[in-house]
Parts: sequence; structure tokens; C-alpha cells
Amino acid sequence: MQKLDKRIEKVLFTKQQIDAAIKKAGKWIDKNYKGKKPLLVGILKGVVPFFGHLVVNIKTDLTIDFMVFSSYHGNVKATTEPKIVMDLKNDIKGKDVIIVEDIVDTGKTLSAVVKMLKRRKPRSLKVVTLLDKKDSRTVNFKPDYNCFVVPNHYIVGFGFDYDETLRNLPYIAILKKEIYNKNLSTLKGAKKC
Ligand code: 5GP
Repeated sequence: MQKLDKRIEKVLFTKQQIDAAIKKAGKWIDKNYKGKKPLLVGILKGVVPFFGHLVVNIKTDLTIDFMVFSSYHGNVKATTEPKIVMDLKNDIKGKDVIIVEDIVDTGKTLSAVVKMLKRRKPRSLKVVTLLDKKDSRTVNFKPDYNCFVVPNHYIVGFGFDYDETLRNLPYIAILKKEIYNKNLSTLKGAKKC
């Protein structure tokens, strides 16, 4: 058994649990996109491990693309749109688009991204997330599919970072409070790149 990183408070989901949940997410996509060729849009960079595992668990033909949004921290207004740092290579007009994201926390990022991409007139637009911090919402947003609901703590591992580290942990865990508190102001808001 792998030794736990000393910055970790508690493991929420093991590699096995994550693999099983992502397999189910792949089945959900296969069921809902039969005969279609969805375009999976990954929001970089926390989504990388989830995205990679998800696409190999989907049997339906698909294409992929990515977007990067600027970091913003702390008291961002619900109406503020995140800035695009890297846009999609594909025109999504008339396509069945699935936004793939690591987590819904306040809901600000995804509700803004959905609004932004809807203006480009996709045929359909759905959101699949690995985690959902249901109790942290400040705007009304519900993903179409999420693998796990998590409590309102700072999450690390499997793509989730602490100050750009710990993304490579093979499990999803809660970061120790004393570490989180040291750097609270920079970790509080949405962190996209
Ligand atoms: P939202 O706009 O929903 O508040 O936040 C979305 C972004 O905030 C996520 O894509 C993620 O980058 C970041 N985020 C929110 N909660 C956490 C967390 O617990 N851990 C980490 N590492 N990032 C988080």
C-alpha cells in the first residue's frame, strides 16, 4: 500500500474507486450519445487525469478539444466571465459538445463557460464533472453528470493541485487545514491555469 503524503488529511476516493466511477461516466456518455459523435471539451489543467481516463472508457466515436481560462482568485462576482487564455481549435456550431471539468465548486466557472459556449450555437451542450461540491454553490448550477459529491474542503490529487503540486497523487484527498490556511487567499477562488 502506498504511503500517504504528509500533507494529506484524509483520502476520499482511492484509485480503484475513481477508476470504477469513471467507467460508469463513460457508460453514461455511450448511452446518451448513441449514433452521435460528441466533441469532448476539457477545461485545463486540473481535468487532465480525469479527461484521459474518461476518453478511453467511451466506446462511441468522439473528438477532443481543450480550453484554458485565466486564474482568478477570491471575490469574483458571479457575473464576471473568466478570460479565455487558449480557445478551442474547433468550431462547435451544430456539434454535440460535452464540457469535461474537474470540479463544480461555487459554480461560477462552469455557468460562465456554458453561457459562453452556448453563444457559439452547438447542437447540444452537456457538462460532466469528476467532483461536485454541492454545498459550496453561490450560483445556481447543476452538472448533467458528476462522478462524486464531495464535502466543502480543499481537495487535492488526481489533477487537483495545491499551489501547482499534488496533482499527481493517484487518489483524491482532503488537504490538511494547516497547509491550506497558510495560503488561503490564493487557493480560495477558481484556479484554472
Ligand atoms: P468554481 O468556479 O465552481 O468555484 O470553481 C471551479 C474551479 O476552482 C475548479 O475548476 C478548480 O480549478 C478550482 N477548485 C475549486 N475547489 C477546489 C478544490 O477543492 N481543490 C482544488 N485544487 N481546486 C479547486
